[in-house]
Amino acid sequence: MDYLDKLNPQQKEAVIHKEGPMLILAGAGSGKTSTMTHRIAYLIKEEGVSPYNILAVTFTNKAAKEMRDRVEELIGEGINMWILTFHSACLRILRRHAECIGYNNDFVVYDPTDQKVVMKNCMKERNVDEKKYNPAYVLSIISDCKEKGISPSDFAKRNDLDFKNKIIYDLYLAYESVLKKNNAMDFDDLILKTVEIFESNEEILAYYQNKFRYIMVDEYQDTNYMQYLFVKLLAKAHNNICVVGDDDQCIYQWRGADIRNILNFERDFKNVKVIKLEQNYRSYGNILEAAHSVIENNKGRKRKKLWTNKEKGEKIKYYRADNEKDEARYIAQEIDRLHSRELPYSSFAVLYRTNVQSRTFEEAFLARQIPYRVLGGTRYYDRKEIKDIMAYMRLVQNTADDLSLARIINEPKRGIGEKTLEKLRALASVRNESLFDILTDNEVVEGLPSKAAEGVRDMIAVIWKFSQEKDNLKVSDIYDGLLVKTGYLKNLEMQNTVESEGRIENLLEFKSVIYDYENEDPQLSLSEFMEKIALLAEIDNHNADENAVVLMTLHSAKGLEFPVVFMPGMEDGLFPGWRAFEKSDGIEEERRLCYVGMTRAMRRLYLTSAEYRTLYGKTNYTKESQFLIELDKSLVEGDAIYKSNTTSDRNSRFSQGSGNDGYSNPEIFRPFEQLKYIKQNKMAESSGGDKNLDLKEGDKISHSKFGEGLVLSVKGNILNVVFDSVGVKLLAKNIAPIKKI
Ligand code: ATP
Ligand code: MG
Repeated sequence: MDYLDKLNPQQKEAVIHKEGPMLILAGAGSGKTSTMTHRIAYLIKEEGVSPYNILAVTFTNKAAKEMRDRVEELIGEGINMWILTFHSACLRILRRHAECIGYNNDFVVYDPTDQKVVMKNCMKERNVDEKKYNPAYVLSIISDCKEKGISPSDFAKRNDLDFKNKIIYDLYLAYESVLKKNNAMDFDDLILKTVEIFESNEEILAYYQNKFRYIMVDEYQDTNYMQYLFVKLLAKAHNNICVVGDDDQCIYQWRGADIRNILNFERDFKNVKVIKLEQNYRSYGNILEAAHSVIENNKGRKRKKLWTNKEKGEKIKYYRADNEKDEARYIAQEIDRLHSRELPYSSFAVLYRTNVQSRTFEEAFLARQIPYRVLGGTRYYDRKEIKDIMAYMRLVQNTADDLSLARIINEPKRGIGEKTLEKLRALASVRNESLFDILTDNEVVEGLPSKAAEGVRDMIAVIWKFSQEKDNLKVSDIYDGLLVKTGYLKNLEMQNTVESEGRIENLLEFKSVIYDYENEDPQLSLSEFMEKIALLAEIDNHNADENAVVLMTLHSAKGLEFPVVFMPGMEDGLFPGWRAFEKSDGIEEERRLCYVGMTRAMRRLYLTSAEYRTLYGKTNYTKESQFLIELDKSLVEGDAIYKSNTTSDRNSRFSQGSGNDGYSNPEIFRPFEQLKYIKQNKMAESSGGDKNLDLKEGDKISHSKFGEGLVLSVKGNILNVVFDSVGVKLLAKNIAPIKKI
């Protein structure tokens, strides 16, 4: 039993506790997950419990795999037991018993893409306008219901069935019946249907209750209602349930996680043994103290404080960078300085609030040749929306680029399917023309279904216009113009889901890339820009097993630990994020996330912010995050954190709500305000042009790229202008970014 020697008395007590419910409520890095793995090993090795009788569930595949590895290491051999995520455990059960709720056991699982197809068909059949009821939005409501166990009829009972709710109710019913007819389940169903089987079939429930005599759940604070029911039903017979969690680390409320599950555990089960672990083994003293000084500010929490007998270690380093590039440069430089045999690249993690922040780091690491990998998100230039918009830009640059055209012809949806595209390709090849050329032929376009014809005609016109004017337009204007006029942005806006919001943020962030290059070279042409980006995008530094710095969001870092952690972007509006100010518990959830991030660090913790940040295409002066201000300053070294901005002062300003113009307010980033800006101002004044502009020979104009110029001649829509900066240019009045002066 020497593997128990290392454990402290409370951990040991938990490990050898065999019967009855147990709650291990403890802070980060106190050995909760280790205690659980030791307990599994102990049950098997010392108590003679069969692995067959144990169920251990957690949230991610990565965590499940790590848990299994740790148990096998302790036992010294491979084991066949259920250490699984909630979804995979339920899937296993359903494969055996789905028949008893009217499914075939070889049912299929629909992923989000499949779900969308189903929803769209349901809408079509009911003549529901996709523009008014976005399929993804309706699906998110349905998912929310399923997580809470709200059936269509419950939905009808709970909601006032006004016009909108009636439609959602109908769609929910229809969607469910299609899935059933197709013998299909979505991800939410996996848990919901398992619970349904347990609730409706005593025999099956008894079988699993009997099988799983010992149940363990890690990260219990993040369970939602259905997951809670699943566990509760299984544990009812034997009451041998051990849940492990930390109310300070609940970071998934926005996805239905219910912190009350952990807070009410003592009420749900009788005679609960509560173990509190108070020693932290992960972090040096200063890191722990610092994390505590932040989380202390949360009101709705159980008081607990961790201690460590590790040395205090270095103070937390704070760096206030000039801008986000300087921030990335600083972090890259620190990694270069610290990395050694004892601290290989894989000891470093950069944990940010949103995926859009990864780009600057990718660039800084590439420049210093620091190996890195981006976890849980796609590398910036690999993202779908970035590739789509780049395909549009490539087409503007070169209309013969068939690959790009094929990529975007149906992005956003224009009713062009694979088959139509194939036909067009065949025709292009017969005529030896590009796809673009084919589509400028009216006869060809007229042969398409009428809706598709209209969409394609508009798209071709937009690309054509910009390709004619590309040398007279700034890259940023071309970009804005394409986003708006091709309908790409609008389509994302209408989806109104977390995912589409993320995509919009990424697209707005791409503006920063363009501005960067335009600042360096105000005459930057589209083709120069595309070349630079192509080079950046193609350097592939991606190797999962490599000794590399890890970049990921704070959310995906849960449960992990790293010797050195960097948390960039400690600014109000970014972290805490701007959405946090709009929800009641928003700030507290963000603060828990901050606590999760800080407690990932074992030896060193860096916090950074940028005085000016270009985000979503707009440079703003930033204020330091209120979490920085809450931090115990005696534990921090480096740049000063300005204390004058007291929390209450800020809160009152943020709570002014809608009167606050997010765009001009430098304290807070609101991507959607910026969206409005792009559309209203930018488009109208720059790439929009004005065909009614009254101009004649001798008039003076100003052009957003070339500056002031003199009109030499006007022929219909075409202007001949001489500019001081670039000489004579031909411009199209209806598209050139010009003003009369
Ligand atoms: P989190 O809340 O972040 O999930 P946790 O409470 O699950 O953290 P673990 O990941 O289990 O914590 O443990 C944190 C670190 O402390 C690990 O490196 C683990 O090996 C170490 N550790 C745990 N218990 C002990 C102990 N008794 N003696 C020495 N090291 C320990
Ligand atoms: Mg853990």
